[in-house]
Amino acid sequence: MVRQYPAGWLAAVREVVWHRNCWPVRAGRDAARCSTPALPGTWPRGRKTKRCRGDDNGVDIVPDRFDKAMVVVAHPDDPEFFCGGTIARWVREGIEVAYLICTRGDKGSNDPTMTSERLAAIREEEQRAAGRVLGVHQIQFLDYRDGELEPSLRLRGDIVREIRRFRPDVVITTDPTTRFARGIYPNHADHRVVGDVTLDALFPAAGTRLYYPEHLAEGLAPHQVSEAYLAVTNEPDFWVDTTDLIDLKIAALACHASQIGDMAALERRIRENVDPRAPSPDERPRYAEGFRRIIIRR
Ligand SMILES: [Zn+2]
Repeated sequence: MVRQYPAGWLAAVREVVWHRNCWPVRAGRDAARCSTPALPGTWPRGRKTKRCRGDDNGVDIVPDRFDKAMVVVAHPDDPEFFCGGTIARWVREGIEVAYLICTRGDKGSNDPTMTSERLAAIREEEQRAAGRVLGVHQIQFLDYRDGELEPSLRLRGDIVREIRRFRPDVVITTDPTTRFARGIYPNHADHRVVGDVTLDALFPAAGTRLYYPEHLAEGLAPHQVSEAYLAVTNEPDFWVDTTDLIDLKIAALACHASQIGDMAALERRIRENVDPRAPSPDERPRYAEGFRRIIIRR
């Protein structure tokens, strides 16, 4: 069952959340500083943006200039759990965001009446609904089988193809070195594989002409991504302040109803468990998403 949000409600939430920080800037303090577009898709394609920093309390470390970001992960719901606040923030700032989901998530149920085929269809619909909440521009599925991802040349080629097609400046994926998250939680094998293969796709394959030369015949030229941000990492060195986007992240997570037994409990956990590793001023709660930053090309 996918939770439905009326279009007007969504637009209203977005408007409030997106402009909470930049509105006072627009209202007069320094109108020229604010470049946040009113809605996704209204920003001119390819234009270099000037960020609206708002009230960041010094934690804002979004790179200064990029236009396109791609999120390459294993399962439907990974983007929202791992980096939903960052995605919402980047979309708000006029960055075009695409998802590449490698599996169909077709094993994520213990309901004896559920089949893999039916679950895959449900989870695809849930993922598209969550993407709409965050304002994501494109969602692509590679349709590998859940729990069976392997570090294959075929998977690498499929990821390279989508990188060459969408041509992102930055890519978010999962840290392949995380065997145990925070040192105690086992990390899903698919998360490790997709991170490993995506990094190999980013360097050197996607930017090198003779890797997957059949892509040239498809009209896809080599493309070099500048940076990768690794989520689910034990070594975060890059934090994105998502404090003013926590409501939108929770609304997007709520779309994944097939994966969440008790949404109220999840919401409570998210709001109460601030990552102790994140920079946090004393005066107010601070939500931040941490990544390990990899520079591929300067
Ligand atoms: Zn996952």
